[in-house]
Amino acid sequence: MSFPRKRESSCLNMLWTPAFAGVTGFLTFYEVVRFDGVLFVKFIADQNLGRLVKWLRIMGYDTVLYRGPADRSFLRKAEKEGRTVLTRRRDMAGRQFAGTLIVVKHDRLEDQLATLMEALPIHPEPARLFTLCLRCNRSLKEVDKEEVSGQVPAYVLETQSRFRVCPQCRGIFWPGTHRENIRRFLGMSSPDHSL
Ligand SMILES: [Zn+2]
Repeated sequence: MSFPRKRESSCLNMLWTPAFAGVTGFLTFYEVVRFDGVLFVKFIADQNLGRLVKWLRIMGYDTVLYRGPADRSFLRKAEKEGRTVLTRRRDMAGRQFAGTLIVVKHDRLEDQLATLMEALPIHPEPARLFTLCLRCNRSLKEVDKEEVSGQVPAYVLETQSRFRVCPQCRGIFWPGTHRENIRRFLGMSSPDHSL
């Protein structure tokens, strides 16, 4: 699949790839989608997209929640770190930006996720699921059961065999019953054995 080179854009322009649109019709969901020839799978989102950020992290996609105003420094950070911009602000589409920017029009999380997965080659993969700390966006490190002994409830230690720790907040994670609900929400049917 190929993407057009970056072009100057304004709110009036609709930049898209005919191949994509023919298959998915995602232009009905996004007002403006820009590609610069490189498809990034790291994201930065404005503060109106907190729930979407959490779900992208659940799926294992490195996603920064930008807490400041969606301004020039927001875009500068995206460029510097090679992140795809997700924003609710339609006026952002007219800004000068040498990267991929997506204006998220939908209000419902389900619709936001579904359309992102249509527009970009991202999808819930069992191997990526739950690999990032939902709080810090850092990669979790797999640790031995012994290392978390005394730090998790005794019944968890007895019933679980795999644990991951966040290097930043030191949060400890293990497979829980809510994970099946998450998988269902993401439309994943096969059981997840990857933690
Ligand atoms: Zn953390």
